[in-house]
Amino acid sequence: MQEQKQAPNRRPDIRGKRFLILRLNNMSLTKLNLNNRFTNSFKADTETANRPRQVESAYSWVTPKSFDNPGMVAFSSSTADLLGLDPTPDDSELVQQLAGQQLPPAMQPYSMNYGGHQFGNWAAQLGDGRAINLGEITSDKGDHWALQLKGAGPTPYSRGADGYAVLRSSIREFLCSEAMFHLGVPTTRALSLVTSGEQVVRDMLYDGHPAPEPGAVVCRVAPTFIRFGHFQLPASRQDEALLKQFADFTLTNFFPEFGEPSKTAYGQMFGEVCRLTAEMVVHWERVGFVHGVMNTDNMSILGLTIDYGPYGWLDNYDPEWTPNTTDAQNRRYRFGNQADIALWNLAQLGNALYSLIDDAAPLEAGLESYRRQYQQLSQRMMADKLGLRTVDDNDNELFGELLDLLGAVETDMTLFYRRLADIDIVMLTDEKGQDYQLMERLADCYYTPDEIPEAIVLQTIEWLRRYGQRLVAENADESARRNLMNRTNPKYLPRNYLAQQVIDEAEQGNYAPLQELFEVIRNPYDDQPEFDHYSEKRPDWARQRVGCSMLSCSS
Ligand code: AMP
Ligand code: MG
Repeated sequence: MQEQKQAPNRRPDIRGKRFLILRLNNMSLTKLNLNNRFTNSFKADTETANRPRQVESAYSWVTPKSFDNPGMVAFSSSTADLLGLDPTPDDSELVQQLAGQQLPPAMQPYSMNYGGHQFGNWAAQLGDGRAINLGEITSDKGDHWALQLKGAGPTPYSRGADGYAVLRSSIREFLCSEAMFHLGVPTTRALSLVTSGEQVVRDMLYDGHPAPEPGAVVCRVAPTFIRFGHFQLPASRQDEALLKQFADFTLTNFFPEFGEPSKTAYGQMFGEVCRLTAEMVVHWERVGFVHGVMNTDNMSILGLTIDYGPYGWLDNYDPEWTPNTTDAQNRRYRFGNQADIALWNLAQLGNALYSLIDDAAPLEAGLESYRRQYQQLSQRMMADKLGLRTVDDNDNELFGELLDLLGAVETDMTLFYRRLADIDIVMLTDEKGQDYQLMERLADCYYTPDEIPEAIVLQTIEWLRRYGQRLVAENADESARRNLMNRTNPKYLPRNYLAQQVIDEAEQGNYAPLQELFEVIRNPYDDQPEFDHYSEKRPDWARQRVGCSMLSCSS
């Protein structure tokens, strides 16, 4: 026994040394520079038992579940780069850490407490039911990031649920957060996706057919995961001190431009949250994204898209569409309602902040500025989509009529704008031009091109002619116009059916299709001829398939 113990010390272990050098190259989370600003600023829950309960504090210490056999599925090198981690993970310690094990001693995981309105109703305490924060870091570039695992086991906020996540929904979160970043949409990021090695039982459609599915953990990254609901919960409990602490923490760390905490500064911060939220929603509209569950607990205080659940992308342009089957009846969170819901949610945040400011005026001004900014931003966004350098209120009619036409017959929104960019101004305005040829150029945008009513064909041609004249009126330059359009209108999205296809393969253990789609969505605006098949419209088989057009909250 004794000899065996001493042996490694006598003979130098070359492999061990190499491993050490690799580790110094930042493979694992061990070298991250933790600042733990959140946990240092707020008082922890004094109870440490991990059981569902009401908590008064801002957060609770939580130990992630111990998984026996985690495996790396996908890793985002660009998110790793933000943190200063090596972009090519092959370190088993890192895989363990990204599943919540072998964490550096200084990393003390915790779950946060918040409330929220769900589907318009106050739901009181919700909290991180399956999110466990690893901590906050300062990167070597001096940036501040919070790291959070989703699906690493139960927390005091799990209520009746298990704290886990399944592979299909984790793939959807990983892919979409990275796609959104590359699309230029404000979002939380994803660092990694690992399988837990364990099965998780889910009733996918809530129809009495529970089945085991592979479990998974996503590591998310954002400057902060503070949500509207973090302010709402202490406000609902008349816990002024905690509410003020949240406001001061958010102001000092994320909105320092408004100065020291004061009533004026809180009001200005609210105004800025309104502006950031308007920006986010307009980006969603630009790319055809439907969040699906815009509850106030899913609204980031930084205007980031957060909590990717039953979200979806518009294939055919339809403002009434929501992918979320749980919301199928009321369609509260349908595509065309997102701007109004964001405003409703901001009003709830304003209500929560009211007692700190004691004056409704700055809050009302914030909501009013949201309305104004949303109008302006969406007008500019539509102009960008059409490659217009200038824009004013006279253009609203042109925009409105286009959207009516896109919704009148099943038209693929993404394909439409790319095809439109390919029709040059000469052709759009050619008096003697063949109307028929114009429609021909758009034919593959339509889901049933042979069934378009004559009246719609005529209106579309008429619209294209007016659009052409509008371009001439501003003396449009052809290549500048096309450039603007093709960097505003993505070619590649992780469309609902594409995501489902990679999920089907991944569930069989084949991650190659996921890797490929992940590659494609990293350059959503560029032509990638070898990947052209990823830019095709939804095939017929996907029209009514679960996962492609219908998703529940079960994840
Ligand atoms: P969502 O609207 O999906 O973001 O979730 C609403 C609330 O339910 C949040 O507090 C989540 O943390 C919690 N939750 C969702 N799924 C689970 C789960 N599997 N286990 C524990 N809590 C969950
Ligand atoms: Mg949530």
